Amino acid sequence: ESLLLLNQVCKSYAAGTPAETQVLFDIDLTVTQGEFAALIGPSGSGKSTLLNIIGLLDRPSSGRLFMTGKETSQLDEDSLTQLRGHAIGFVFQSHYLLTAFTATENVMMPMLMQAGRPDDAMREQAQSLLAQVGLKNWQDHLVGNMSGGQQQRVAIARALALNPPLILADEPTGNLDTKSTDAIFELMREVNRRQKTTFLMVTHNMVLARRCDHTIELVDGRIVTR
Ligand code: ADP
Ligand code: ADP
Repeated sequence: ESLLLLNQVCKSYAAGTPAETQVLFDIDLTVTQGEFAALIGPSGSGKSTLLNIIGLLDRPSSGRLFMTGKETSQLDEDSLTQLRGHAIGFVFQSHYLLTAFTATENVMMPMLMQAGRPDDAMREQAQSLLAQVGLKNWQDHLVGNMSGGQQQRVAIARALALNPPLILADEPTGNLDTKSTDAIFELMREVNRRQKTTFLMVTHNMVLARRCDHTIELVDGRIVTR
């Protein structure tokens, strides 16, 4: 059962101008439901570009992308936003947490887009998610006062807020020490096993990549198999 399928996806930046550069070439890729996949490759190989396309934040220049069985090239911006909202949770370095708000408030943030949910119900669910990621005693602390590892736990709880089938994580352990790296990876693995949430994680950490179910390696915009 494929949750995500890419067929011959290409991406060029500045298409149609003299500066046009192709950065992804004929990407064929399947991520099955319940899988924990790693996306690896040297800097500049196209990982962020590919993750943005898979996250429905950017469109392929050509080729097809199926998300939860839906072909996405014909979808307008509103439909893409809607699909992104319920299919994908993001743990991106660029999706900053709101440091002046509490952990609970940060986790509630995606829920606010669901019209008409009572505040108490959202707060209760956010607190339960924070307990799941080991932050039961930190729910009312400001995120700005928490450690890097704790902030990554908040980001994971927030990504889980709408219970998406897929979580995209861009170097989720990039700024963490070895001990926190292991803890955060194990936490994601546990969510993956318990809830069958599918993960696609960009990482430079080969030790972690080897502990994933499936490794996708990009070199110069192409998938290499070894
Ligand atoms: P990383 O290697 O961690 O992906 P980069 O420094 O390559 O980070 O890229 C950071 C941001 O800058 C990304 O959002 C990327 O899309 C953008 N970027 C990278 N290279 C270029 C470029 N040549 N022109 C415009 N934007 C770029
Ligand atoms: P990675 O995440 O593996 O470091 P990226 O996807 O960030 O790779 O970048 C792949 C290539 O695309 C790089 O050569 C980068 O400079 C280029 N690139 C990334 N974003 C842009 C952009 N917005 N405009 C032009 N070139 C870009």
